[in-house]
Amino acid sequence: MRRKLIAGNWKMNLTYKESEKLAKEITAKIEQKELNKVDVLLCPTFVSLGIVNKTIKDNDIKLGAQNISYENNGAFTGEVSAEILKSAGCEYVIIGHSERRSYFHESNAVINKKIKKAIEFALKPVFCVGESLIEREDEIYEGIIEKQITEGLTGIDAEQISEIVIAYEPVWAIGTGLNATPDQASQIHSFIRKVIQKLYNEKTANEILILYGGSVNEKNSAEMLSAEGIDGALIGGASLKSDDFAMIVKKAAQIK
Ligand code: PEP
Repeated sequence: MRRKLIAGNWKMNLTYKESEKLAKEITAKIEQKELNKVDVLLCPTFVSLGIVNKTIKDNDIKLGAQNISYENNGAFTGEVSAEILKSAGCEYVIIGHSERRSYFHESNAVINKKIKKAIEFALKPVFCVGESLIEREDEIYEGIIEKQITEGLTGIDAEQISEIVIAYEPVWAIGTGLNATPDQASQIHSFIRKVIQKLYNEKTANEILILYGGSVNEKNSAEMLSAEGIDGALIGGASLKSDDFAMIVKKAAQIK
């Protein structure tokens, strides 16, 4: 049985104090009975990991980072290691977000190294994949997604993959207000399961969590999260508003 996961990606938003405030509001607005049904994950900036951890630590809300270094430690100015993330209370880390792929030129090979490093330190990667608008229009999106998955997961065995969450995020839907229809998302989620089955086995394909991301909000979330094969959401904009984020969690918890 796959448990739904609702993850907030705060991106490069909110000061230290604002992060604390948002974490407090979210903690107050999400009820334990919802957390019994749905996993909730907050991914603030590195700077605010500590204060958000302190704020949520008596709840079942989980903490994640937005990036990780593939190096262990040492002279890598500006980077943050897996060990440091663990020490700040992180359980998850977003890897391969399209903004990192496009603005920071992260290749599938770099993403693969980061996924391996996260797993080595028992951090759960939220591994993002998804096609651009041109790739969708050119109808080459399945090939692109298959390549991202195959290269991103190179050298990761069937046992290790159980620690990984995949997030399907069509780039054209991120922060644009456009979102894939539930049918379009379901179709890709099912395609991703086929790729995982080919790389691993049927059991792994059935068990892996696949989130949808791209302009999910409190209005469209119920329909999106009820669609076949959609195990949760990775949310940017709407995760910065406590009412909206808490409402998405509430709706997710109501889905049978
Ligand atoms: C994201 O940052 O992963 C995302 C899906 O953003 P938004 O919800 O704003 O589209």
